[in-house]
Amino acid sequence: MQTLLSAQRDAEEDRTMTAYDDQNIFAKILRDEIPSMRVYEDDDTLCFMDIMPRADGHCLVIPKTPCRNVLDASDAQLAAVMATVKKVANAAMAGLEADGITIQQFNEAPGGQEVFHLHFHILPRHEGVSLRAPGQMGDMEQIKAISEKISAAL
Ligand code: 5GP
Repeated sequence: MQTLLSAQRDAEEDRTMTAYDDQNIFAKILRDEIPSMRVYEDDDTLCFMDIMPRADGHCLVIPKTPCRNVLDASDAQLAAVMATVKKVANAAMAGLEADGITIQQFNEAPGGQEVFHLHFHILPRHEGVSLRAPGQMGDMEQIKAISEKISAAL
């Protein structure tokens, strides 16, 4: 018979553990079902440009295996993703002559997440330049040119 405590635990898991949906846009990018501008990839991770850049060089790092966000990611997924974040962030510093890097990461809709495949935002920053508002489509040719500068510095 289920105790009150175990029923409570089940209810908590239901609230926190939403299933991974393999139709999310980043899963489609991983499967090459929709195009992306790839900056870097290895066996475990992919980095590609954000098409609505909040800063020049705004890119996203994702694991190649499924998880929604930090809450359900394995330690191995997080370690692999963070190693790529560090690698690309350093390349963006050098390739774009950035003065700093902002790293953002959101978990679940109330936490600001819109695409439910774990991702870290890398936002190269220049002194005195504010982030642009979210949700504005960028110029694809400009994004491509910037992505090549990051790739060249890897
Ligand atoms: P979140 O709020 O989930 O952390 O951010 C999702 C990010 O994905 C946003 O910065 C948004 O601009 C980006 N994004 C949404 N759709 C696409 C897409 O089709 N391709 C790419 N490259 N980025 C996308």
